[in-house]
Amino acid sequence: SRPLSELDPEVAAAVDAELCRQRSTLEMIASENFAPAAVLDAQGSVLTNKYAEGYPGRRYYGGCEHVDVIEQLAMARVKDLFGAEAANVQPHSGAQANAAAMFALLQPGDTILGLDLAHGGHLTHGMRLNYSGKLYDVVPYHVRQSDLRIDMDEVEQLALAHRPRMIVAGWSAYPRQLDFAAFRRIADEVGAYLMVDMAHFAGLVAAGLHPNPVPYADVVTTTTHKTLGGPRGGVILSRAGLAKKINSAVFPGQQGGPLEHVIAAKAVAFKVAASEEFKERQRRTLDGARILAGRLLADDVAEAGITVLTGGTEVHLVLVDLRDSALDGQQAEDRLHRIGITVNRNAVPFDPRPPMVSSGLRIGTPALATRGFGATEFREVADIVAEALKGEQADDELRDRVEKLAGAFPLYPHLNGAAA
Ligand code: PLP
Repeated sequence: SRPLSELDPEVAAAVDAELCRQRSTLEMIASENFAPAAVLDAQGSVLTNKYAEGYPGRRYYGGCEHVDVIEQLAMARVKDLFGAEAANVQPHSGAQANAAAMFALLQPGDTILGLDLAHGGHLTHGMRLNYSGKLYDVVPYHVRQSDLRIDMDEVEQLALAHRPRMIVAGWSAYPRQLDFAAFRRIADEVGAYLMVDMAHFAGLVAAGLHPNPVPYADVVTTTTHKTLGGPRGGVILSRAGLAKKINSAVFPGQQGGPLEHVIAAKAVAFKVAASEEFKERQRRTLDGARILAGRLLADDVAEAGITVLTGGTEVHLVLVDLRDSALDGQQAEDRLHRIGITVNRNAVPFDPRPPMVSSGLRIGTPALATRGFGATEFREVADIVAEALKGEQADDELRDRVEKLAGAFPLYPHLNGAAA
């Protein structure tokens, strides 16, 4: 019963320092967000103590009557949110959701088509060192060099030539919406499953601001902590006919006991995601990304050899193209870090620099929209980013502007800090 600050001051101090970092900087990593206090409460609850192998009503442990209620709530809410026939809310992460979905529908050695990592795909879509690259025969598809959009003609040609068992659509770094109908048509042409990994844009889908892949795909996977704004975790949605195979692939195929405290937090996040307030937040997320792209496409930025991939964005992130700039991705990330803006460097398609340095930045607006930023604040953030990348203004001045913005939007005001 001793509080964390007393029992383990070292951990408490690091937790406090992280709270302080989150409060005083501007979080623009596209895959991050701030979970509501209610989500943190659910996740920090006594549910953390409970074993519940199996599924609601069919557990391998006693005492599951309350976690059954919670898991059923999470399943019903996420099915409603996305219009899915079946849901598995147990995957511990997005990577595990993808692994289980593939394990359910594929045999080792089967061929899959996935977006090349270097062109915006995720590790689990077939990267050489990932389980997906080791277990399956991966054929990567790409963006076109001319406009940096996914080349659906290439997807079709590769599908016809390699007859994959699964086509994976989805991305970690791509600023445009996908053509789910075209992916479905190609999958049908060759008798492949279509799996959509909507981890990045699930919040936009939930808000009705992005096409929903569920009507097109056999299986849709997502994380719950990116635009969705919930706890760190994964979900698999599918057609009813595939549910049995998918459930079996998650447990006992991949996991033991589900994290019922995280599942409770997912249930809370799905409730929030169905609200009008969430929609409004996702609208500000998209507006913020468009404002940022607009500023980074202005002449003064272009003169520094900096531009925006695909000339804009339709989602919650902007990909900055530094291929013609003296500044590389590492230097740009460091510069923004120094003034209190957190982003990640990212390889751009056809990147001449090595991946550890790279020629791109991925900048997202979900966390700042959650913090309350609207068009006025995003215009100021966009200008700070533009000035930082141009490199003409002193770090101190930009850092002051960042601090002013952060100070005006208090984060988790009810938290005193673990060491307090
Ligand atoms: N899928 C996509 C498209 C992602 O971008 C990510 C995370 O970056 C994942 C899956 C993996 O999620 P997690 O980090 O929870 O394993």
